[in-house]
Amino acid sequence: MSHPPILRGLDELRATIAPWQAKGARIGVVPTMGALHDGHLSLVELAKKDCDHVIVTIFVNPMQFNNPDDLESYPRTEHSDAGKLERFDIDVLYVPDGPQMYPEGFASTVTVQGLTDVLCGAHRPGHFDGVATVVAKLFLQTAATDAYFGEKDFQQLQIVRRMARDLDIPIKVHGCPTIREIDGLAMSSRNLLLSDRARVTAPRLYEEMERVAQEIATGTPFSQLQAPAMKRLEDAGYTEVEYFEMRANDDLSLLDAPTRPARLLAAAWLAGVRLIDNIAIEP
Ligand code: AMP
Repeated sequence: MSHPPILRGLDELRATIAPWQAKGARIGVVPTMGALHDGHLSLVELAKKDCDHVIVTIFVNPMQFNNPDDLESYPRTEHSDAGKLERFDIDVLYVPDGPQMYPEGFASTVTVQGLTDVLCGAHRPGHFDGVATVVAKLFLQTAATDAYFGEKDFQQLQIVRRMARDLDIPIKVHGCPTIREIDGLAMSSRNLLLSDRARVTAPRLYEEMERVAQEIATGTPFSQLQAPAMKRLEDAGYTEVEYFEMRANDDLSLLDAPTRPARLLAAAWLAGVRLIDNIAIEP
């Protein structure tokens, strides 16, 4: 198998897509920032199952980084990413550059209100404006009928769904399960930045969430579980737990008991790396 065709310009992308659209084909898009791992590849696999044509995009979107060092240190591994995609036989790997996405004079922003005020939105000002803007552009550029996003970034998934609905972009947004390492750590491109020592501590985040989920299942109110869980994470070596909360799936409002479908969501810093995770809590 050979590398997927890499397209960098919107004109060539549109020329490639036009005949697919003319036939009414199902076109899947998997937006990523590269440094692909099995979590990303699981989305590609699902897209391949559903769709006639699949486009994977790689764009490290400067607009969604609120910290220049984070943008600078974000792993960039295009060559090996293309290699990992070989076995999926995708139609296009779209890798636009900065000026392609944000040409001189670019002045428009997509803002989703409400859902972006909490969780990561409260800690990373402007982050979700960057996400909503770039994802809206990728939806329009690829003219995809189906998009595949990970539940790993649950808040992002809900924001993207709302954005597509509000802007009448005709695309179905699929939420796909989180893929984990054997020790439970959610796969993430940022895991590459963890030292060996931090990598040993990292799975404690998921362990703690599972433990709290079990207590919730026995009827303990979340308000009694939250502070001890955050303390245990800090004792384990996490330097700052930004949030550890239970929220409703649909509108991300805070819950103390799972009276409707909910998630436990957490973000915490470990040795200079910000990790996020979430798990489902059934009512
Ligand atoms: P990123 O490259 O981090 O922007 O992620 C691109 C897409 O892959 C997003 O939809 C993520 O939610 C998804 N993703 C990242 N990590 C995982 C994972 N461990 N399992 C499933 N999907 C993931």
